[in-house]
Amino acid sequence: SPVVEGRGIVRDYHMPGSMMRRSTTVRALKGIDFKVEKGKTLAIVGESGSGKSTLARIVALIDAPSEGELLIDGQRVDIEAKRPGPELRSKVQMVFQNPYGSLNPRQKIGDVLTEPLIINTDTPAGERRDRARAMLEKVGLMPEHYNRYPHMFSGGQRQRIAIARALMLNPSLLVLDEPVSALDLSVQAQVLNLLADLQDEMGLTYVFVSHDLSVVRYIADEVMVISKGEAVEQASRDAIFANP
Ligand code: ADP
Ligand code: ADP
Repeated sequence: SPVVEGRGIVRDYHMPGSMMRRSTTVRALKGIDFKVEKGKTLAIVGESGSGKSTLARIVALIDAPSEGELLIDGQRVDIEAKRPGPELRSKVQMVFQNPYGSLNPRQKIGDVLTEPLIINTDTPAGERRDRARAMLEKVGLMPEHYNRYPHMFSGGQRQRIAIARALMLNPSLLVLDEPVSALDLSVQAQVLNLLADLQDEMGLTYVFVSHDLSVVRYIADEVMVISKGEAVEQASRDAIFANP
C-alpha cells in the first residue's frame, strides 16, 4: 500500500470579519487526491499562492484538512484530533526552506539532533549521542560538529543539519517544502544528491514542494501540478518532461 494517500483533501481558511469587513472563507485546497509509494518522490509544483505549502503542512500532520481523508502507511489519520499520536508523528517529518529559522542559535548541533529522541523516546543519553554523531556523518558532516553552534555553518550545512534532525526518529515519509530554494546553485545540487542518496539507502518516501522545474526534473518520480487549489495535472516525471 502507499506510504501516504490523500482523498478529496479540502482546506478552508476562515478569516474573521471586523466592523469594516465581512468574514470570508478562502478554499485553499479544493479536493486533492494523491498517493505516493514507498521509496518514491511526489513533487508538488505550482505558482505562489496555489496551495503547495498548505498541502505540505497537511501531509506533514502540522495542519489538518477541513474535509477529506489522509492515510499514512494505510492508517487513517484522525483529522479531528488536536495532535496526531506519537507513533504517527515520528513517521512523518518536515524540512522547511529556511534552515536559519528552524535552528535555535543557542542550541548546540548535538542538542538539535537529540531533541526529537528526548521528546518522543526513552533512548539513554549515551545512545542518543552516538546516534546523533552517526547521523551527522550520514548527512556529510562530522561527528565533531556535535558540540558546535548553528552560526558556525554555511547555509547548505545548516540544511544538512535540518535533514539530519528530521531523520533521527527513522521516519518513513519526509515532507520537504522548497528545501534547496534558499541555497546557491552548486550547493542545491549537493543537497539534492544527498537527499537522493538518503532515499535509496533508507527507503524514504518524499513529498517535495518546489517551484523550480529543474529541481523537479532531477528529484521527482511523480509530479502534481497545482493551480488555485486544484490538481490540474498529475503524471510521471517522464510524461511531464517529455518533448511534445
Ligand atoms: P509561500 O508562498 O512560500 O507559501 P507565503 O508568503 O504565501 O509563503 O506564506 C507564508 C506564511 O503566511 C504561511 O505560513 C502561510 O500559511 C501564511 N499565509 C499566507 N497567506 C496568508 C493569508 N492570506 N492570511 C494569513 N496567513 C497567510
Ligand atoms: P503556496 O505555498 O503555493 O504559495 P499557500 O498554501 O501558502 O500557497 O496558500 C494557498 C492560499 O491559501 C493562498 O490564497 C493563501 O493566501 C491562503 N493561505 C495560506 N495560508 C493561510 C492562512 N494561514 N490564513 C489564511 N489564508 C491562507
